[in-house]
Amino acid sequence: ALYRAKRRGRNRAEFFSAELQAEIVTAKRVSDDLLAALDNNEFIAHYQPQIDATTRDIVGVEALARWQHPLRGLLTPDAFMAAAEELNVVATIDRMILEQALAQREAWALEGVFVPRVSVNVSARRLHDDTLIETLRALDIAPGTVAFELVESIYLDERDTMVSWNIDQIQELGIDIEIDDFGTGYASIVSLLQLQPRRLKIDRQLVQPITGGDRQRQLVASIIEIGTSLGIEAVAEGVESWEHAAILADMGCTVLQGYAIARPMSGEDFAAFVRSQRWR
Ligand code: C2E
Ligand code: CA
Ligand code: CA
Repeated sequence: ALYRAKRRGRNRAEFFSAELQAEIVTAKRVSDDLLAALDNNEFIAHYQPQIDATTRDIVGVEALARWQHPLRGLLTPDAFMAAAEELNVVATIDRMILEQALAQREAWALEGVFVPRVSVNVSARRLHDDTLIETLRALDIAPGTVAFELVESIYLDERDTMVSWNIDQIQELGIDIEIDDFGTGYASIVSLLQLQPRRLKIDRQLVQPITGGDRQRQLVASIIEIGTSLGIEAVAEGVESWEHAAILADMGCTVLQGYAIARPMSGEDFAAFVRSQRWR
């Protein structure tokens, strides 16, 4: 019995080290692949519609990064964002996604699919970039057609003069600032005054429970009210059912995004989706 236990113990140790080894090999492969992927333009944007809570018209799309991996297929950010951060290339991915989204919006327009606004996620690092505004100017963005979704870690840097200058200039260019994942970090409410965003996006962790109880609903209603009282529109993410949609619309939330309307999809699929009008 002792012999067996020892054997098992040894096997387990071998098993763990083999697993660890495999993990290291995988991580290394992801980083090598990722650098090649940037050169090969394997990062593509997928698009998730955002609708007006009352008319159900499409008011915009959120562009979300995907990696079209030659062997592993289509990957979502959880498979590569950590590695991208490690390699310091998130800002590069952000820039690629913005450029694609702008080109896609024009391509859709030529096909008769009008998308008023594209939203992109912007990492904190990009706001430290002293060439950001120059880069954005060169893109000739029409005012009101682009929104930047910023996460809360950015406010911690807000006193950084580069960051606050960039944020001012972004707004000056007619790009809307939105606070992403609102309600999940402690700086949220302060950021409403500091950043004066156009919209706040209520995090899906707060949105999903609203069908479950009065208190959950009241919390979201209060957030919407705070925003509205400051002239900031509320966007709900993670809207997974039309019951959620109805409750949110009732509370004065103006924009809805979530699986109830559609999952993120390729630009081509999005054009077909709009033509189908199937979310109405
Ligand atoms: P996020 O900004 O909060 O984006 C929304 C995420 O929620 C997306 O996941 C979307 O597919 C998912 N989602 C949408 N509707 C629903 C719903 O009804 N239910 C549920 N459960 N989920 C829903 P995705 O595409 O996997 O992106 C994950 C995160 O990766 C994003 O979270 C964002 O933080 C980051 N990300 C994505 N693209 C970019 C990018 O281009 N740049 C940067 N810096 N970050 C990105
Ligand atoms: Ca987002
Ligand atoms: Ca979120």
